[in-house]
Order: sequence, then structure tokens, then C-alpha cells
Amino acid sequence: MRLDRLRLYDFRNYEHLDAEFVPGVNLLVGDNAQGKTNLLEAIGYLSTGRSFRTAKPQELIRFGAEFCDLQAELTGAEREQTLRAVVFAARRPRQLYIGGVKQKSAAGLSGVLTTVLFCPEDLQVLRGGAAGRRKLLDTALCQLRPAYAAALAEYGRLQEQKSRILKDHAVMPSLLEPLPEYNYRMAQVGAVLIEYRARYLCALEEAAAGYHREFSGGREQLRLRYQTVSTIDDPFAPRKELFEAILLHQERHYRAELESGQCLTGPHKDDFEALIDGRAVRSFGSQGQTRTASISLKLAERELLRRDTGEEPVLLLDDVLSELDARRQDFVLNQIRTGQVFITCCETDRLTDLGKTMHVAAGTLREG
Ligand code: ATP
Ligand code: MG
Repeated sequence: MRLDRLRLYDFRNYEHLDAEFVPGVNLLVGDNAQGKTNLLEAIGYLSTGRSFRTAKPQELIRFGAEFCDLQAELTGAEREQTLRAVVFAARRPRQLYIGGVKQKSAAGLSGVLTTVLFCPEDLQVLRGGAAGRRKLLDTALCQLRPAYAAALAEYGRLQEQKSRILKDHAVMPSLLEPLPEYNYRMAQVGAVLIEYRARYLCALEEAAAGYHREFSGGREQLRLRYQTVSTIDDPFAPRKELFEAILLHQERHYRAELESGQCLTGPHKDDFEALIDGRAVRSFGSQGQTRTASISLKLAERELLRRDTGEEPVLLLDDVLSELDARRQDFVLNQIRTGQVFITCCETDRLTDLGKTMHVAAGTLREG
């Protein structure tokens, strides 16, 4: 899988960009605030239909412009393909195209341009809040399974509507009438999410443990433990059992939800815990162990995408190498010898001989 060419119009600080890339390492070098991350964000948006930086797509449009247009030419194992996304400033739905065919939703993008993003925040993902770990699962699964992407989008809409009911029912009691229906559907869709997440996490654990073992010289054992709705004893149970367990949890929290005005129960609270040799990384991991485990997770994410699609996903490394010591840099660089990689950094230093270098300055790209 590789991105051959990217065209941007009024995207972030790019008024107009037309760039060609090499199949191996593409090094994007430039001072701060020149547009390096913006470029990776554009690639990520075409890959997933979402920005990894903002939930508000309008922020992607260059200040003062009315819309932005992103276009990519790709080569996969089987054939060439094009992708296009247009986001409007005004209240008009964004448009996504694959090979010129307009898509109904972002679920259609699944597997067309697979990417794995690795940025400095990812190094803290095992220590930070649960949202970061859910995002990791969701981003990977949405790329792997269109059905998951569709379920996640529906769950998000239901959760938003239920939250509104819970927030406003005190002043408008009639809002409570459809609540049982929302709960029922959220339990149905929630069961689907849990089913996928449990299986994915299991595969991720196996792959990540391999990398972590290798990096720690065979000394450390990394494990991942899925944490979901507490009434679920076995996340691998049949979907119907998951559904019933979610309903039970909802019933038990019915009062608490009304009183707090918040959606307290469901897989939107899911998390996973990483353990090294049986101890929680979050509480007991050293800085180095936490970083190594995070790197292992990312490499595992890439491996699972590769295994599933049969193609190496495009790796987007945003400023992450500069955060690593030489030993960890080498470990990552050794693991990414195959496939296409985009690396952003402020100084090239020891990276220049890796591939094609491009200089990013004020929303322009210059080769050399
Ligand atoms: P760093 O090395 O600090 O990470 P960077 O090269 O990755 O820098 P980016 O985050 O890609 O920087 O670009 C940031 C620049 O883009 C900022 O100057 C910001 O003001 C500008 N920018 C962000 N959004 C928009 C927008 N919608 N329209 C125009 N400019 C924007
Ligand atoms: Mg940046």
C-alpha cells in the first residue's frame, strides 16, 4: 500500500499542494508550525475519514476559505486507486469519493488506504486516560472492519441523543419516553463493539508481546487486559449474552444516570490495561518500560493491519523519533524497513540517508 501523490486545496495552512512521494521513507523536515503534522493529518483524513487532531472537520479548512479538497493517488497490491474528500465550511455534508464514486459514509473507506499513526502522545497512551486507549482500538478496528466503523458511528449518535435526554429530562419530563428504546439499541450496538474489541485486543496482545519480548531481550512479558461493562463476565460470550449483560448494567444504573444527567453505562467507557510481568504499567511501569510497551503496541497495530489486508499499511511517524533514545530509535527503524513511511522532524540529523527528504515551510513542500 502506498501513497503516490497528494493534492491539497485550502487544507490547514496549505493553499495548494501537489506532492509526489516515494514508496519507502519520506522525510518531512521543517521548523515548528510549518505544516508537517498538517500533511500527515491530511493523509490520515483520507485514510479514515476523521482527523486525528480534531473532531471538528471545519477546522481543516484554511482560514477564510469556504471548503478544502484533499485528493490522493494510491497503489495497492492489486491496483491503483484514487481518494478524495471535500469538507465545507457551511452546513453542508462533507463528500468522500473512492475512485470517483461518492461514498455514503466513512465506513466505505475501510481498508482503501490503511495507515498507522505514531506520535509523541502515543508514548503516554498506557499512562493517560481511557479515551486514548479507546481511540487506539477504534482507529484500528474502523480500518479493518467496515461493520465496526458503522456500529461505532451509530453508537456515537445514540449516545449523543441519550446524553441530551439525560441532561434535559428534569425540565422536560416527556423526553424520557423514548429512553428505553435508546437503551435497547445501545445495548444491541454496544454488544457488537465489545465483540470486536475483545477479539482485536487478544490479537494485539499476542503481536505486541512479541515485540516487547524482543526489545527487552526476552526478559519481559507484556499482557493486555480488556475492561468493559462490569456485568459482562466473558467478552467472548455470544452476542446475545453480551446484549443482556449490558441491559442489566443499564437497569442497575438507571437512577444514577437520571440523577447525574450522564450516560454512565456502556462500552463508551471501555478501557484496557497493560501489564508487564503481571504488574500494571500505569502504576508500576518505569518510563522506559512504558515507552517500549507503547512502541510494541504501535508495531503490533501495523502488523495486524498487514496480516489482515495482506498489505503493509502506511506508517505516519509524527515527531516521535526525536522523543526516543538511540536504542529505541534503532528498534523502530529496524522494524519499519518495509512499506511506506512518512516521518516528520525538525532536524534531519541521523535520518537523512533513510529516503527522500522534503522541506516543509509555510505550507509549501520543496524537495532536496
Ligand atoms: P511542529 O514542528 O511544531 O509540530 P508542524 O510543522 O507540525 O510544527 P503543523 O501543526 O503542521 O506544524 O502546522 C501548524 C500551522 O498550521 C500553524 O501555524 C497553524 O496556525 C496553521 N493552521 C492550522 N490550522 C489552520 C487553518 N485551518 N488554516 C490556516 N492555517 C492553519
Ligand atoms: Mg507537528
